[in-house]
Amino acid sequence: MKIHSLNGYINTLFIAEYEDYLLLLDGGSPADVDLIEKFCIEELNRPVSNIKLAIVSHMHPDHSGAAPILRKKYGTRIAAYKNIDEWYSGPTGWFQHKLDCLMAQIVAVKHKTKIRKVFSKRITGPDYLMSDMEPLPFFNDWRVIYTPGHTSHDIAVFNEEEKILYCGDSIIEVRGRVYLPLPVIFRKKNETLLQEDGGAWSGTDTYSARQLHRFSRQRGDLCKDGKTSGGAAEQDKAQGSLFFNLVT
Ligand SMILES: [Zn+2]
Repeated sequence: MKIHSLNGYINTLFIAEYEDYLLLLDGGSPADVDLIEKFCIEELNRPVSNIKLAIVSHMHPDHSGAAPILRKKYGTRIAAYKNIDEWYSGPTGWFQHKLDCLMAQIVAVKHKTKIRKVFSKRITGPDYLMSDMEPLPFFNDWRVIYTPGHTSHDIAVFNEEEKILYCGDSIIEVRGRVYLPLPVIFRKKNETLLQEDGGAWSGTDTYSARQLHRFSRQRGDLCKDGKTSGGAAEQDKAQGSLFFNLVT
């Protein structure tokens, strides 16, 4: 298995390449569809329909926007936490969705990215409704970890064999520093951070970070600067989406 990173519209996307199929981590922005198509065809020399599964780590438009478009065009299946579609349901959900799409666009403008489509679907309708610790369909070497905190339904995915953790927006990196993302709905203290030496999680009351911390303790320390599949912990350019090697 080989991990590729793609410099997406808002976040970095990751494609796990297997002999038979591709796994997309995670759902991207609507504006990322062209990038994903181009990468599969030109770089991997494979049809886009090889993306058998996309995970949607949470409903924010930069993580859920491309996957439904890929499903429609190429039959890509979507795996997400089982209650994910409650997030933007109802009138307040409708409003929040518009607000989040707008905020995603502001992030893109701030980073001087050429403006592209960011308005995602409000309902994802996953093909696979996942629970904590379940293996991913088709890719049993990855396991889902339920990590609420950034939203109520975040998931991370962990590959035990490769010692790789993809944690979506549960922890983000901005200009070389590691933070909790905004919003963090379960935060009691405004403090977090991985220690700069990459050794441990420092104090936080955020459930998702606590859970990741506990998880990492069970399996070894988190290494901020390790490499995935022979490369480094991949980090996005602006917000979200860290890949960690777990050093045992
Ligand atoms: Zn997010």
